[in-house]
Amino acid sequence: MSSPDSKEGPRPSNFLRQIIEHDLAHNAYAGRRFAGTPGDAAHHAQGQSDPARIRTRFPPEPNGYLHIGHAKSICLNFGLARDYGGVCHMRFDDTNPEKEDQEFVDGILDAVHWLGFDWQAFGVSHLYHASDYFDFMYRAAEYLVEAGHAYVDEQSPEQMRVNRGDFNTPGTDSPYRSRSPQENLQRLRDMRDGRLEDGAAVLRARIDMASPNINLRDPAIYRIRRATHHNTGDKWCIYPMYTFAHPIEDALEQITHSICTLEFEDQRPFYDWLLERLAEGGLIAHPLPHQYEFARLNLTYVLTSKRKLAQLVSEQRVSGWDDPRMPTIVGLRRRGYTPQALQLFAERIGVTKSDSWIDYSTLEGCLRETLDTTAPRAMAVLDPLKLVIGNWDALMGAHALDDCSAPVHPHHAELGRRQFKMGRELWIERGDFEEVPSKGFFRLYPGNKVRLKYGHVIECTGCTKDDQGRVIEVQAQLVPDTKSGTPGSDAIKVKGVITWVAVADGLNAEVRLYDRLFLDAHPEGNGRDFLENLNPHSLRVVHAIVEPSLASAVADDKFQFERHGYFAADRRDHAPGKPVFNLAVGLKDSWGK
Ligand code: ATP
Ligand code: MG
Repeated sequence: MSSPDSKEGPRPSNFLRQIIEHDLAHNAYAGRRFAGTPGDAAHHAQGQSDPARIRTRFPPEPNGYLHIGHAKSICLNFGLARDYGGVCHMRFDDTNPEKEDQEFVDGILDAVHWLGFDWQAFGVSHLYHASDYFDFMYRAAEYLVEAGHAYVDEQSPEQMRVNRGDFNTPGTDSPYRSRSPQENLQRLRDMRDGRLEDGAAVLRARIDMASPNINLRDPAIYRIRRATHHNTGDKWCIYPMYTFAHPIEDALEQITHSICTLEFEDQRPFYDWLLERLAEGGLIAHPLPHQYEFARLNLTYVLTSKRKLAQLVSEQRVSGWDDPRMPTIVGLRRRGYTPQALQLFAERIGVTKSDSWIDYSTLEGCLRETLDTTAPRAMAVLDPLKLVIGNWDALMGAHALDDCSAPVHPHHAELGRRQFKMGRELWIERGDFEEVPSKGFFRLYPGNKVRLKYGHVIECTGCTKDDQGRVIEVQAQLVPDTKSGTPGSDAIKVKGVITWVAVADGLNAEVRLYDRLFLDAHPEGNGRDFLENLNPHSLRVVHAIVEPSLASAVADDKFQFERHGYFAADRRDHAPGKPVFNLAVGLKDSWGK
């Protein structure tokens, strides 16, 4: 497992780390056994003492690609396991009999690996499917019925809803609540064996219809649903509810710390109730897993819901799950994000117990920070305008090209130097010339001198315009003996330095300039439909000219285009001879503006 290089010393503590450290210090999980595979109490009793000091899990539903919120959960769960000598289980929560898409399963595993984590530990692959536990879940259901802790309710869904009561009114017992365990067992088997219609009955835990926590008012734990499951086929026509399945999955896998988002806080009493009942019956092993809740990630300008992201894809508002504007892990990766940047982000935002919004600039800052130290530099002209040096032939010789070079990275001399030419004709940024300079403009305008970065000082002499008055060429004179790095080159002081690429050796490239996908920080603020908040200018494609060192770029390579930002060679479309670069992040934070 890789870890972010933590120049900042020890990882910042948080309430989950404190809980784990406390548990370890008090041997809360000492003596636990693990049989090498998930299973019931008897199974683990035969196992070895667990070599993992803690067990956490990451349990996505395979119904889409993972997003930045999942990245937080992955870094948290796998990170805690790594830091405390534990294991994090990779578990597909596939108890819903919906068609499981292999594309999503593969995508999820790929995302976790790419982020730098692995579920291989102590010689075991901890990759699990919750649907493998259906047999046990049913056995647990029968046990609860036999012990008088569950009953089959045949009220209509509407009656059940009304009888549940609400915040101010206690619930009313179902007329079916007092059936005998024998009767209930028969009815549960009728449910299982397909003798009841979908929706005709549910199995409910018998807890407390007057509980102030509505989740404890006899929650449903099994429902009838005739649906083919990708793993178990047509074996079952009843399926467990999520709130019943999840604690059992944790228990069978001997999870110690089950970490979920805050919306499950009210479910914790049921989580504990269920596991205590099953442990009393000897079905699951002690010590029991515990659930802890943390605040989900909310990021400005971003949607973190697989369902809504799926909508952007299906309605073709973006080019796919890996569109570089998507907050999916595949989208961020294609945009130019690195695992290090996302790990740093997860660490920097930390974990808390109250919901808040993280500013998008925090994420971008992490990318900038990690790429700054590693990305090779290059010059690129994104909005090319031709510059002609009038005295070039006289000074350098007709058709001559002058060799120039620059460090690959300003702080890593060992990475060597890039080579490129300067000639009579160059490409410069259109924005670096103003015929009539605005206040504070220090770059090219007639009569002003600037330095061509890594090259000579030039003095602007004029420009040529087309019929519409648009500037199509700028003219300048080269000032002799001013080449960067030569003695006396800085005798002439200039205020502006501009980047450029020679016409002679510049490469054509497609550059995709991305901006935020949504116009507002809260795309669904004020009850708005997020589809109406899309930024119509979130993608601008330009034809750029880039320096020749980029000819060897391969897909996924990242660069700093000097003065512009960090760019990644597009992993889908970039090809030798047909370069395509994505803007990953600008050099400066522009979100406040
Ligand atoms: P979605 O609504 O996007 O499908 P989910 O919570 O239903 O999200 P799951 O596939 O069930 O998605 O998520 C797997 C894990 O990722 C869960 O443990 C969940 O708590 C966590 N997770 C999902 N979204 C976020 C988020 N925004 N911040 C932190 N953790 C998240
Ligand atoms: Mg979900």
